[in-house]
Amino acid sequence: MGEKMKEASYDVLVIGGGIAGGEAALNLANNGLTVLIVEKDLSVGGKMILLSKVFPTLDCSACITTPKISEIARHRNITIFTGSEVRKIRKKNENDFEADLIRHPRYVDAEKCTGCQLCEEACPVVVPDGYQFNLVGRKAAFIPFSIANPRAAAIDIESCTLCGACEKACPPGCIDFTQEPEEYHIKVRSVIIATGFRLFDPLLIPRYGYGLHKNIITSMQMERQLAPTRPFNTILRPGDGKVPCKIAYVLCSGSRDASVGNPVCSQICCMYSIKQAQLLMGALPMADVTIYYLNIRSFGKGFEEFYEQAKGMGVSFVKGKIGKISENPNGDLLLRYEDINENRVKEKVHDMVVLSVGIVANRDVSSFFGEGLLKLDPYNFVSQPDQLLRPAKTSIDGVFVAGTASGPMDIPDSILSSGSASAETISYIIGRNE
Ligand SMILES: Cc1cc2nc3c(=O)[nH]c(=O)nc-3n(C[C@H](O)[C@H](O)[C@H](O)COP(=O)(O)OP(=O)(O)OC[C@H]3O[C@@H](n4cnc5c(N)ncnc54)[C@H](O)[C@@H]3O)c2cc1C
Ligand code: SF4
Ligand code: SF4
Repeated sequence: MGEKMKEASYDVLVIGGGIAGGEAALNLANNGLTVLIVEKDLSVGGKMILLSKVFPTLDCSACITTPKISEIARHRNITIFTGSEVRKIRKKNENDFEADLIRHPRYVDAEKCTGCQLCEEACPVVVPDGYQFNLVGRKAAFIPFSIANPRAAAIDIESCTLCGACEKACPPGCIDFTQEPEEYHIKVRSVIIATGFRLFDPLLIPRYGYGLHKNIITSMQMERQLAPTRPFNTILRPGDGKVPCKIAYVLCSGSRDASVGNPVCSQICCMYSIKQAQLLMGALPMADVTIYYLNIRSFGKGFEEFYEQAKGMGVSFVKGKIGKISENPNGDLLLRYEDINENRVKEKVHDMVVLSVGIVANRDVSSFFGEGLLKLDPYNFVSQPDQLLRPAKTSIDGVFVAGTASGPMDIPDSILSSGSASAETISYIIGRNE
């Protein structure tokens, strides 16, 4: 541990550097407030920076996110700590919070790193690449992904054998195995929680066979295959590298299902599946795409038209409840389902299945404040005591919530909620509204 705890003060602490936290920080910084973003990951951008295109406009997600993220990263009122976490936050008084933070070592001097990737080439250790949702491997010395911000290497010390090959290969000599965790004690006037969501773990539905049958992937793995920073130059099924031609989507995988502990609608899965189906029709014009659904929830602006557009492109929609997915010897998948319209059980073979996994709460939030101070809702999202009139307010005055930390929502709603959180924060700091 570093010898001395470092001290600093800012107007606002934003926890989480996804699109919600980034947008809130930018609003505050543009109003003259100083902001510290604490991001757990090695890059800011959250899930959005990893997506392909966005519904219902089909704009390229990376093309929207990267300029926004670089505006945030270059703003003179914003400081970003990546690879960092909040240990504890104490409210001393109104407009007076103290937080203990830890910055984990990257083992690379990010200021000096040129992003040349020579360390990656030299490193002999290969491990699954979490940013590609384990579809491919990466090295122990690695740049998280090509549009990461900061675009600097890091050493995954858990997998590193300390062979020193990266150090020898690095032209500016910025690899530093002596780096240690740094502790910070900071003072702020207000806090925004923007820690986002986690994906439902499909292993919790054993009858679907995820993890057992190789050609079943999650929607996030398909998102990576469709993204501009994709691991392959086409769509491949992971079991044997074959280009699939009969792709099935299983909606509500881990949503609206009390038997797996998540009765909540994830709000985004219908629409992102319809989006991916349209993108697949473009990428693989000969492919059949079938979406198995219980209800299609296309409630937002332009969403119903987007659904109709998918039907017009030839995407099949089957109102069916999946009972079991089993694997044929050639890796194809047999879906046994109840056809709800015909009220009978049917079977159909597909060569790749995508589970449209839901959104669940990021439970990190429960550790930030003293026991029970920050109230959570029954599904462990941050509780909104005045959801109708002041949705950014939490159970602690001066602490606000932005984006999916308070529940499932898409990108436009996350941006709107960041607007609400930043406006509330400004009112709180200047002494109104409380
Ligand atoms: C497969 C898929 C496809 C999607 N497609 C679309 C689409 O086409 N259109 C659309 O509108 N929406 C889409 N979405 C939804 C979109 O991803 C979310 O609306 C958006 O990412 C929410 O942003 P956020 O900032 O709230 O959360 P996140 O993106 O989850 O960001 C949270 C950030 O907080 C950080 N963090 C977490 N815990 C901590 C901690 N303890 N300390 C510090 N930092 C922390 C995380 O590392 C992350 O950077 C899709 C989602 C999925 C899963
Ligand atoms: S020292 Fe570690 S990170 Fe560097 S090349 Fe060797 S195994 Fe890879
Ligand atoms: S070799 Fe050095 S400068 Fe190049 S990406 Fe790796 S750490 Fe950065």
